[in-house]
Amino acid sequence: MVFKGWQKTSLIEYPGKVATVLFTGGCSFRCPFCYNAPLVLDPGAIPDLAAGTVLSYLEANRRLYQAVVVTGGEPTLAPGLPEFFASVGELGLLRGLETNGSAPEVLRGLLAAGLVEYVAMDVKARLDWDAYRRAAGLAESQSGLLEQVRASIAILRSAPIEVEFRTTAVPGLHSEQDLLDLAGELAGVKRFVLQRFEPANAAAPELRRAGPYPRPALEAVARKASGWFGALELRG
Ligand code: SF4
Repeated sequence: MVFKGWQKTSLIEYPGKVATVLFTGGCSFRCPFCYNAPLVLDPGAIPDLAAGTVLSYLEANRRLYQAVVVTGGEPTLAPGLPEFFASVGELGLLRGLETNGSAPEVLRGLLAAGLVEYVAMDVKARLDWDAYRRAAGLAESQSGLLEQVRASIAILRSAPIEVEFRTTAVPGLHSEQDLLDLAGELAGVKRFVLQRFEPANAAAPELRRAGPYPRPALEAVARKASGWFGALELRG
């Protein structure tokens, strides 16, 4: 397995734990608000970081960390993810995964093998094709991905691990009602986070000129959806 980026230490990527964070290249989605466009669009231009290098570092610095988080891009596309997580587990570290939910079979395999303790899944929009296609930048020919996303949500709803669902609220892509509808579709999950879009590094130039999502609108959604989840957080 190879990575394309490494944030040595993070206090926020794995809840309550000191984590090291690894980035994979490539993604099945093309979200216009993506802030990791180079990783998604041209991963070949970024030098490889071998998993063995990371594991050797972690072995030598084991006491500095409690968890390893793999993010992207879309990590479930990366060959060797289960083997990498197995090696991380042998070091006694917790394993976290951030995913867009496009590969439920990978999630199912990781869970069945006990190779992950925390998953954060981005839910891009209401679960209807038109809304999802726009928010995730998908082509008409990719409509099967919505079913994959639905399957991942179903798997993670009942997974016996720590799970967070996240939605980035983007001006022009999500109305207040869209966010409320989406929240309704996720009702009952353990944890849901509504995060404000950060325009500075958005992949689509027109979104870079948009402001952040109005905080009062997010607060209104949170008020209406309060009690639908184990926990509901506004971020940003
Ligand atoms: S799923 Fe994530 S990494 Fe992929 S394009 Fe969307 S925001 Fe970027």
